[in-house]
Amino acid sequence: AKAEGRNTHRIFAAAMDAAAAERRELESDLRRAIEENELTLHYQPQVTTGGRDLVGFEALVRWQHPARGLIPPSTFVPLAEECGLIMPLGEWVLRAACREAATWTRPLKIAVNLSPLQFQQADLAERVLAILAEAGLSPTRLELEITESVIINDMERALSILRRLKALGISIAMDDFGTGYSSLATLQAFPFDKIKIDRAFVGHVEGSPQAAVIVRAVLGLGRSLGMGVVAEGVETPHQMRFLTDESCDEVQGYLVGKPQPIERFTRYIHGAGR
Ligand code: C2E
Ligand code: CA
Ligand code: CA
Ligand code: CA
Repeated sequence: AKAEGRNTHRIFAAAMDAAAAERRELESDLRRAIEENELTLHYQPQVTTGGRDLVGFEALVRWQHPARGLIPPSTFVPLAEECGLIMPLGEWVLRAACREAATWTRPLKIAVNLSPLQFQQADLAERVLAILAEAGLSPTRLELEITESVIINDMERALSILRRLKALGISIAMDDFGTGYSSLATLQAFPFDKIKIDRAFVGHVEGSPQAAVIVRAVLGLGRSLGMGVVAEGVETPHQMRFLTDESCDEVQGYLVGKPQPIERFTRYIHGAGR
């Protein structure tokens, strides 16, 4: 039994080594990916709930890995956050998204996700401004999506950065609303321009009376606080009807459009089409 235990231990240790090696490899791959432009952005439309007028796009990062194919952000954004690559990754995304939006002939919004770790840079607002200037994009075209963990980590610093960003004319959206553990305190701490209701709620307005009540409550909260409300993850006509009836401001989801390369949206971002 003792020998068997040792054996199990050896196999387990070998598996750990393999996982660590795989991780190191992915890490150095990711470093190269950022330098050599293997990252790419997909864009998901955000539209007004009633008229389905195009408001803008959310930029979502993907990694076009030479051997592994298209890797979703859920696998490499957390890795980038752990190994210190989130700063260069975040700047790459912001620069690429702003450059793209600067080519559009319609003044649509471009929404970019920021990692809470990017707020560790005290000069984040100045960095964002420099990227906007370099891209030739008006700050009023940019929306930054942040989760409440930003405010929880280092409240004073985060609030001061957010105030500077807002003063520049950049709008700030609170992402994944309702999934954190102090969402209401976060709303009290900072005047967000928009609240994005997490798709965990939106996806259940049909089957779950509780989810419907929560979505209605968030819409009421947004109205009372003067913040726009966006519903994420709208997949069915029923969900759309519910959100229209409840006067939700904007929607985003597979029903309207999946995240895709911007070329797929060319006819909507130029000229007067919608
Ligand atoms: P998120 O910011 O909440 O983005 C929404 C996610 O929901 C996206 O997944 C999008 O493809 C997906 N989605 C949109 N509509 C629907 C729908 O109708 N149904 C379903 N089932 N899903 C829908 P994605 O692109 O895989 O991104 C996942 C997460 O990765 C994002 O969640 C965000 O937290 C993070 N992420 C993506 N791009 C960036 C980035 O550039 N920087 C940072 N820091 N994080 C990013
Ligand atoms: Ca987002
Ligand atoms: Ca979200
Ligand atoms: Ca999310």
